[in-house]
Amino acid sequence: MKGLDAIVVGAGVSGAVMAERMASQLGWKVLVIEQRSHIGGNCFDELDKDGIRIHRYGPHLFHTDREAVWKYLSNFTRWQPYEHRVLSSIDEKLVPIPFNLTSIEQCFPVEKAQQMIEALVTRFGIDARVPILELRKEADPLLAELADFIYQKAFVNYTSKQWGVSPDAISPAVTARVPVVVSRDDRYFTDPWQALPADGYTAMFRSILDQPTIEVRLNTPMSEVLRFDWQHQQIYRREAGAESLFTGKVIYTGMIDQLFAADLGALRYRSLRFSFERKDQPWWQPATTVNYPNDHDYTRITEFRHLMQPEPAAAATTVVYEFPKEFDPAAGDEPYYPVFTENGQHRFEDYAARAKTMPQLHCLGRLAQYKYFDMDDAVANALDAFDHLEATHG
Ligand code: UDP
Repeated sequence: MKGLDAIVVGAGVSGAVMAERMASQLGWKVLVIEQRSHIGGNCFDELDKDGIRIHRYGPHLFHTDREAVWKYLSNFTRWQPYEHRVLSSIDEKLVPIPFNLTSIEQCFPVEKAQQMIEALVTRFGIDARVPILELRKEADPLLAELADFIYQKAFVNYTSKQWGVSPDAISPAVTARVPVVVSRDDRYFTDPWQALPADGYTAMFRSILDQPTIEVRLNTPMSEVLRFDWQHQQIYRREAGAESLFTGKVIYTGMIDQLFAADLGALRYRSLRFSFERKDQPWWQPATTVNYPNDHDYTRITEFRHLMQPEPAAAATTVVYEFPKEFDPAAGDEPYYPVFTENGQHRFEDYAARAKTMPQLHCLGRLAQYKYFDMDDAVANALDAFDHLEATHG
């Protein structure tokens, strides 16, 4: 591919959206390189041998409150309506999580449950969504008892498995993703747009990247194509054994510390080991996802069959168990969740400041911006970054 305008490193959400915008809106020639053997990043899905669509990197449930994101993606896929519901295994029962009024009734004797519900409604109002760390500040003994129950039974162990620390040691924004709900709404998300790409995420990404001026190269580590000369603020393109100065844009969506061989120290991530199991029965569990806040090393089990419409004919079902662990690149782990500590944030900012010294380089997405992005956040972020690039490129 001659006369490239941009090279995009990574074919996940951020890279694919940015590549598509540059190609379709600016007519640019774009090369997308991806070190994995597939596009779509962690959204990648595929049919297993039973015809069940599995998500290789864990369940991805699309939801957004941003109309612009919904409209943008709708150019590339039809949608299958889907609202996610999760149960949590508490005291041998499966109760709705986010913990709601029904969960309270399932976990407490009738009279006490009624009193707790009344206290919650009086204090916060019907339909309120209260972060567990906020509920824990309540002085009313009944609310304090409820908060303590939910905290201990639903959050403490799940969070120590997921993050390696207790809920008060991580950013409050993380547990606030799963609030206590003062209603009977048992949906995991409340966004107005909730759906799955009708033909899967991989097909949606194929369509996003299917532009006449985009070339995608899989199984291609960045070092095969690019070399950064930080001292002279220049980027070289490697091709057919030769190097030439590259003056186009480079959109980098990998881990930002990898740009510098992590010379200030590696940024911390939590990782997951996914264990897929084929169960020889048509259904395994009553909801797509069941959380295990207490008794097991895994945090949750997801059964993919629940995501499919029409229902697959298979007599077997596939589930995935998620075992959290610290990210260890030497063990072949994938970096999933940035771990926010003050030190880590400073380290990230140091890397980001150095990356900024290369004017043609744009660091984009969850790994390059070290943020806990949901899919729609990543799309919105890439669309914003493109608008900025379009407004400022000379
Ligand atoms: N969480 C928990 N118990 C649960 C569900 C979530 O303690 O049953 C906490 C946990 O710390 C988790 C965070 O809330 O990391 C956010 O949960 P979410 O389901 O949004 O995480 P994700 O799906 O992004 O892994």
